[in-house]
Amino acid sequence: MPRRVSHTVKIVINGIGVAGPALAYWLTKAGHEVLLVEAAPRVREGGYIIDFWGIGYEIAERMGVVGEIRRLGYPVREVRFVGRDGRKRGGFEVSVFGRVTRDRFTSVPRSDVSATLYRAIEGKVEAIFGDSVAALDEHDEGVRVSFDHAPAREADLVIGADGLHSRVRRLAFGADPEFIVPLGYHVAAFEVEGYRPRDELVYVSHGLPGRQVSRFTLRGDRTLFLFVFRDEYLRGEEPKAVLREAFAGSGWEWPRIEEELARAGDLYFDTVSQVRMERWTKGRIALVGDAAACVSLMAGEGTGLAIAEAYILAGELQACAGDFRAAFARYEQRLMPFLRRKQASAATFASSFAPRTSLGIAFRNAMTRLMRVPAIADRLIGRELRDDIELPDYGFPRP
Ligand SMILES: Cc1cc2nc3c(=O)[nH]c(=O)nc-3n(C[C@H](O)[C@H](O)[C@H](O)COP(=O)(O)OP(=O)(O)OC[C@H]3O[C@@H](n4cnc5c(N)ncnc54)[C@H](O)[C@@H]3O)c2cc1C
Repeated sequence: MPRRVSHTVKIVINGIGVAGPALAYWLTKAGHEVLLVEAAPRVREGGYIIDFWGIGYEIAERMGVVGEIRRLGYPVREVRFVGRDGRKRGGFEVSVFGRVTRDRFTSVPRSDVSATLYRAIEGKVEAIFGDSVAALDEHDEGVRVSFDHAPAREADLVIGADGLHSRVRRLAFGADPEFIVPLGYHVAAFEVEGYRPRDELVYVSHGLPGRQVSRFTLRGDRTLFLFVFRDEYLRGEEPKAVLREAFAGSGWEWPRIEEELARAGDLYFDTVSQVRMERWTKGRIALVGDAAACVSLMAGEGTGLAIAEAYILAGELQACAGDFRAAFARYEQRLMPFLRRKQASAATFASSFAPRTSLGIAFRNAMTRLMRVPAIADRLIGRELRDDIELPDYGFPRP
């Protein structure tokens, strides 16, 4: 039976992660009417700590939220690689990141970026939590959007900002395997309270062949654990059992981490994959953020890039004054080559991320020690951190 159409909205955005609220922010600045829809009951927490710089940082400045993001961020001092006995084997000073970005860099939990972006629009944009776009029926005048729970609505445009496993992408473009390219790893993250030891502002990482487990100390006596491992260590399906099996006998602090894992509530667990598509738009539907072009954690910049995509999509809609077809085409032209370069460099980095042998780990550790030489560090990191793209000024009102 057809659902009742309650009233008309202009732009429906599915997903309130990073890209979704950033896009809603710029669209409302341009005077559009937006409905945000999120499957989770509230803005999602959990996940890892991300490095935030580059064009994402620059747009956050334009949004007036960079002060808040920095307040929630951590001035990480050191990345430290340790062996089974906990002794330092390699690593580098993080001050190089600040130097090459002229201090426009911070490390911040992904959930804090997402929550900060949402706070910037909360109350100004209609948002529905605990629901999802369920079906899209495009016609000459717009799109009839059905939801899992809410009554259907009419929209002019629908945007999928619903992450790596985007449902909007599935509905409008096709099945996941057509677009998701696994990089051969899985990632898991969780937070606990009261863990000891604490090495304030040090990212401590223990590498084993094909696996890496890291911890980072957060405020409020919390510690964040991040696991990355090659898919050959993936046995079974239940995430905690997979981690226990993959990291069994790893030495270092594993027995304590295993106890914390057993108690952990909110565990983030996913494949490390990219999304590669020939088009991000189709008719009145567009994708943004990971849904369109996930670069994966290997790029270290997915959050900033998602914010950039949101800004440029909203900006092109503004510049094209309602001609969404032209705006969508310009959005793709501006960003696709840039995102492809980011993806290619992340895929190359992935091949060496968790070396397969102990010798490979020792070599990686030795290479990181080279980074103690400021000239080498600045050159290597400077090259990695460069965002070779111009950010247009679309004339949005400043906050
Ligand atoms: C809880 C969480 C933890 C994460 N942790 C890591 C990590 O440890 N390592 C890593 O590499 N990347 C992680 N990511 C991905 C990372 O945040 C993104 O790469 C990046 O921020 C791009 O943002 P995005 O907005 O495109 O996607 P996301 O930040 O993934 O946001 C997508 C949003 O859409 C929502 N959503 C999904 N499906 C639907 C649906 N059908 N209907 C409505 N809403 C839907 C999700 O709940 C989420 O809030 C995590 C994402 C989440 C949601």
